[in-house]
Amino acid sequence: MDGGMCDVVVVGNGIIGLSTAFELSQRAADLRISVIGPPAREGAASVAAGAMLNCFGEATVSTLGDPASIAKFAVTRAALDAWPAWLDKLCDAADGARARRSMRQGTFIVLGAGAAESTISNSHAIRSALATYDEPFEEVVPAEIKGMAPEVNSRPVRALHLPREGSIDAREVLALLERALTTRGVDVIPGTVEQLVISDGRVHGVRLAGGETMSAPTVVVAAGSLTQRFIEQLPPGAVPLMLHGTGLGVLTQRHGVPGFGQVVRTPNQSGACGLHLVPLDDLGHEYIGGTNLPSFLPSAGPSIGVSFNLLRRACEDFDHRLGYSRIHRWLVGRRPVTLDGFPLLGAAPSCRGLVFATGTYRDGFHSSPVIAAHLADVVLERAVAHPYFDHFVPERPPIERTSVAAAIDEFIVHENDDAVMLGIRLPYCVAPESISGHYRRTAEDVYSRMAEPIALLPEILNAVNNEPSECLRLLNPYLRAVRERYGAWVAPRALWCAG
Ligand SMILES: Cc1cc2nc3c(=O)[nH]c(=O)nc-3n(C[C@H](O)[C@H](O)[C@H](O)COP(=O)(O)OP(=O)(O)OC[C@H]3O[C@@H](n4cnc5c(N)ncnc54)[C@H](O)[C@@H]3O)c2cc1C
Repeated sequence: MDGGMCDVVVVGNGIIGLSTAFELSQRAADLRISVIGPPAREGAASVAAGAMLNCFGEATVSTLGDPASIAKFAVTRAALDAWPAWLDKLCDAADGARARRSMRQGTFIVLGAGAAESTISNSHAIRSALATYDEPFEEVVPAEIKGMAPEVNSRPVRALHLPREGSIDAREVLALLERALTTRGVDVIPGTVEQLVISDGRVHGVRLAGGETMSAPTVVVAAGSLTQRFIEQLPPGAVPLMLHGTGLGVLTQRHGVPGFGQVVRTPNQSGACGLHLVPLDDLGHEYIGGTNLPSFLPSAGPSIGVSFNLLRRACEDFDHRLGYSRIHRWLVGRRPVTLDGFPLLGAAPSCRGLVFATGTYRDGFHSSPVIAAHLADVVLERAVAHPYFDHFVPERPPIERTSVAAAIDEFIVHENDDAVMLGIRLPYCVAPESISGHYRRTAEDVYSRMAEPIALLPEILNAVNNEPSECLRLLNPYLRAVRERYGAWVAPRALWCAG
């Protein structure tokens, strides 16, 4: 190796890489840690995040439906408790008094009159999760929410207030973490890692884009949606494919009218995330998000149609006076989403010293304190039992939450709901079933072209349908390799039902 040497290299400077490095530096002060990532963070999810600190607000009909989803929910519940102390710890390390104020508590979840089927189901799921875990909430009159002024046909019919769920200024927290790391003596290196240096079944360090190398016995890959290139250095099929969930957030400022005091959002909507508005300060700065379009290769950005629809719906469903707000910045980020939708968190047995820390999809910002604590245990080889994280070991066959037949039904609901959200209205003479029939044929066609049919999330099935040749070129070799490596794996759902 011709370059530097340290104990741990973290590849990626998003929220997961930085938080993991920070937690490690707190636990083992003498550990030599380097974080490598491009300062501009082009396309990084963390920069584009809202960032709502939502757990119950993110619940869907699937949240408590199978062991892996329940485990993921447990992580987000733990994060809800962890954030206040975590932020204090970051501020103390970085002397960032302002960031301490950037956390806001309180989230309103509103269900609009025109909500689609899956949105309504997800709103029931939120209620039921709140009751199951005895989480405080209050049913409120939608019209009494400060700032709410929707268009007449889009008035919310129900609203919940979750006092413990809120938001944080994502961009401020990233800056805070960088300051804290520098104070703790962690090396934050501007650059891009080209490849892992692997031989004899273990990692020895990384090679940077400029050709230099950095050696380390432990490498943590936290490269977000760009992790696939490193997955490809492991045996085929060992780790689920990494996809890109492109999303848009818009930073705006109010013009002459007061805004919302707390987060206002809808439940998650079919495969997309919920529409949300996050107040950022008392000067009228707000964040409007978000959209979600998964793809197998990084997309150039969200389409005009998706962006237009986001802003239209924020005006119609939340506050028509948003039409006067000024746009300060368009934020485009790619959520790291694996083929099965679950994260990759832990050591890779086929390559000693290699740890994956990614795949957090929609709630990585919120979950980051708990994920960082777990990854620090993994890196420091602490013998701690992690029943939740066991589901998310990176070397695994894809987790199937459900059967292929049920995944097709889910896809049909998802597509129908998308059409409703985009404003479709059928004349009386067109039966809704004819539209559903079209979506069923679409899904069955995709499945007939898959080498090994596995139950896909609706938005991922949609990604395959949008770009079939490009996706199947990557998907089919992966699925064949999974079959060869893991044999006829038993989906956790089947085990769960049997047990
Ligand atoms: C529009 C939008 C809204 C969202 N809203 C929320 C929300 O409200 N709440 C929430 O909890 N989550 C939200 N998320 C999801 C959340 O942002 C992600 O789960 C989380 O930020 C992922 O963090 P990460 O560090 O894994 O990935 P990233 O933030 O993508 O960071 C990866 C980093 O690695 C760097 N990198 C990539 N390749 C290399 C390489 N080869 N060498 C070195 N560095 C590399 C990248 O430049 C990047 O900086 C949202 C995401 C988006 C896009």
